[in-house]
Amino acid sequence: MLVYDPEKCIACGMCERACPSKCISFAVQKDAEGKSLRKIDWYLIDYGRCNFCGLCEEACPTKPKAVWHSLDYEAVFHSRDEMVRYWKSGDHFYGNIYNFELKAFEPVRGQLHLEGVPEHRRV
Ligand code: SF4
Ligand code: SF4
Repeated sequence: MLVYDPEKCIACGMCERACPSKCISFAVQKDAEGKSLRKIDWYLIDYGRCNFCGLCEEACPTKPKAVWHSLDYEAVFHSRDEMVRYWKSGDHFYGNIYNFELKAFEPVRGQLHLEGVPEHRRV
């Protein structure tokens, strides 16, 4: 399972550039003068397009990696909405989903791996 840590991320964009499936997008936080900070405002992965190739993890320069494949082997998605994950600072590794019916972000439910802390295979 591809997971992400918004606290480790420095918003460099290497993962987005490395991704062949164009499933990563993000926005950088700006200061009062409009200068980009090394922090994300939001970050998104669309698992519906991801081929789990790992190129984003390879490209990520942080130690430990801010985006990485955990040791979870299976992930079940109950809806297309659940495949699109959003993160902001302070969010859980697995992010949130946008519930289009309720027009609100909410945590992912019903996935076993949510109970575990994702381990890094590589740092
Ligand atoms: S695992 Fe591959 S396809 Fe999926 S987000 Fe990373 S680079 Fe893109
Ligand atoms: S996840 Fe890694 S590669 Fe992607 S923007 Fe953050 S620090 Fe850069």
